[in-house]
Amino acid sequence: MIFDGHNDLLTRLWLSSAKDPVHEFLHGTLPGHLDFKRCRQAQWTGGLFSIFLPPYRYLQQHHPEKIKDPTATDFSSEQIIEICTAQLEIAQQLQLRSEGKIQICTSLSQIKSCFQHQQLAIVLHLEGAEVLACDPMLLDDFHKKGLRSIGPLWNRKSLFGDGLNATFPHSPDTGSGLTQQGKELVRTCARKGMIIDVSHMNERAFWDTAEILEGFHQPIVATHSNVHALCAQARNLTDSQLKAVKQSHGMVGINFDVAFLRSDGQRDPNTSIDTIIDHLSYLLEHIGEDHVGFGSDFDGCLLPLDLADVTYMPQLLQRMQQRGYSEALIEKMRFGNWLTLLEKIIH
Ligand SMILES: [Zn+2]
Repeated sequence: MIFDGHNDLLTRLWLSSAKDPVHEFLHGTLPGHLDFKRCRQAQWTGGLFSIFLPPYRYLQQHHPEKIKDPTATDFSSEQIIEICTAQLEIAQQLQLRSEGKIQICTSLSQIKSCFQHQQLAIVLHLEGAEVLACDPMLLDDFHKKGLRSIGPLWNRKSLFGDGLNATFPHSPDTGSGLTQQGKELVRTCARKGMIIDVSHMNERAFWDTAEILEGFHQPIVATHSNVHALCAQARNLTDSQLKAVKQSHGMVGINFDVAFLRSDGQRDPNTSIDTIIDHLSYLLEHIGEDHVGFGSDFDGCLLPLDLADVTYMPQLLQRMQQRGYSEALIEKMRFGNWLTLLEKIIH
């Protein structure tokens, strides 16, 4: 079993040109890193599934069919709501049409039951909260439909804060912290029993969030970020951030994107799987074995060639074993630590 802190499947299915992407996921073979058959084969049994608003320019360039008004230069509020709602509905469709094989989970007991019955466990995550700036009431609506995790900021500026400028080499200190609305959003979501993800926060927003979460005794979670000391990408976590994650009893999910792994920061897939283990080992040494797991970024990243999709997970686990990780330690990283964390937060 593997529980994975981050993937972009829902966004990819929304972007897909297939006639019925949900059917393709369930019964066919999709291009990309994940489909049901391959997840099963790899015993990849669940994780945080992201609802994400892609950058407008990315859609213009790669998916112009998704832009309704070609004369516009940015999304309208209606479009933002439409895009995020559509991805949430894809998750619902996956559950509905899976004949009991996929479950949107809102509690630890549901996730455990999925593991027991070999179902795929989806915990819904919102990456970047722009949609809530368009309509704050949607938070309750999405929460009712299963949303249990939120990254208030993505790389761009929004009502909630500056976002993070993902550059290399650079410190995570790339702008201002959370706005008043951003702080209020973190408090509201913490009260609702949701994970607050700091993965796309610049350093000031990270510390703003850390301070608020301390008041709630809630762990700091970076669902898909790596070690800044090994790869000086602004998206990665400095030693003092890592220390704060540890002190809060939080988690770091290791991101498999080569640009967040490599010491030269290059988007070069010719990157050894061992680089992932180097980051894991650094975390083990610096924050201990209870705070580390996977946050693959499947379907949203450039993977190393020897980890071409989810079916290569057993090779990664085997390599961890060869590098001296015990079975008990590997089990914690596969799912144990994530489950312990989720038990503390989601309800
Ligand atoms: Zn991300």
